Amino acid sequence: MSPLETLLREMIAENGPMSLETYMALALNHPAYGYYVSKMPIGRSGDFITAPEISQMFGELTGLWSAAVWRAMGEPQPLRLIELGPGRGTLMADALRAAQIVPDFLSALVIHLVESNKILQACQHRALKDTGLAISWHAAVGELPDGQAIMVANEFFDCLPIRQFVRTETGWHERLVGLNDERRLSFGLAPNPVADMNMQGEPGQVFEAGLAASRVMAQIAARLCRQGGALLVIDYGFDAPQFGATLQAVRSHRIASPLDDPGEADLTAHVDFCALTKTARAAGAAVHGPVPQGVWLTRLGIYERAAKLREKASESQKAAIDSALRRLAGEEDGSSAETMGRLFKVLAVTAPGLSIPPGFEPEPE
Ligand code: SAH
Repeated sequence: MSPLETLLREMIAENGPMSLETYMALALNHPAYGYYVSKMPIGRSGDFITAPEISQMFGELTGLWSAAVWRAMGEPQPLRLIELGPGRGTLMADALRAAQIVPDFLSALVIHLVESNKILQACQHRALKDTGLAISWHAAVGELPDGQAIMVANEFFDCLPIRQFVRTETGWHERLVGLNDERRLSFGLAPNPVADMNMQGEPGQVFEAGLAASRVMAQIAARLCRQGGALLVIDYGFDAPQFGATLQAVRSHRIASPLDDPGEADLTAHVDFCALTKTARAAGAAVHGPVPQGVWLTRLGIYERAAKLREKASESQKAAIDSALRRLAGEEDGSSAETMGRLFKVLAVTAPGLSIPPGFEPEPE
């Protein structure tokens, strides 16, 4: 049993069942045993792999996107380039290398990384120490200094805790984590329905609410409206309201059970882009997209970039470039699994009045 499981069992035995949001927050961020506090999650030896780890093209295009948005903002000096959940620092390193072709942008930058994981902070330090740029780390969005900013969040919002509600004959009941007869962690439902939840639904349907994600979005959107700038969100999720449980545990590249060994597996849920859009607009920000990741990368020129990289590549490198391209931007990757190009969505939130950021241009009629 993981040390966190022992602790959770004690907490539940003492205080009764906890919401899924509390469970997820502890499993991911408990100060001693949380997954994102104590583990090395990303990469072949970690539990999952992300777009910047698949190909340098992802970070490069994000860097050039940021430079273009900075120009549209009127080239503010300094510009805070902020990444939320920077993982191993790969995206930022690739972005800054690509940005060398825009030297005035590069010299305007101050880098801020929002990261709770000390192991990853050390990776980020190693990945970025040779850039010569000022870099500082922050534990939460609320700790970021003021100023005009471009913010990037790849696979950050999916690891913020969610609540789940299950429809029964008597209404919507919150899903809770409690203990079964053998004192093991188990899912159950709150005995009373949520009083003010009037949404229609069939018995058995599940509704997920990413309240933590919405709180972060509200905070960022208000900041962008006051101080200027843009936020780029890239994540897997849905762009129309939907029912269904998407909570998922992943350990060593395999799906695991969300209640097994808390603190040892990654827990994520699909991002509700409709809710994020609504929250950002309510704060007064402009919202562009979401567009599928494949569309966004294609519009930014990933195929042209891949062709350029292929020119100097060996046969095996060419095969790797083609495979990365299929995974990141393709509609099909040869397997039955959905590609990241289709499953992942890209959303931009900006201060009102900023021109449409690259990759979000509306389709011609
Ligand atoms: N963007 C990276 C990593 C994605 S994994 C990539 O694409 O490779 C999620 C990242 O968010 C990790 O760096 C993780 O440590 C960080 N993270 C997760 N929850 C966090 C929280 N509540 N506060 C700060 N960072 C968090």
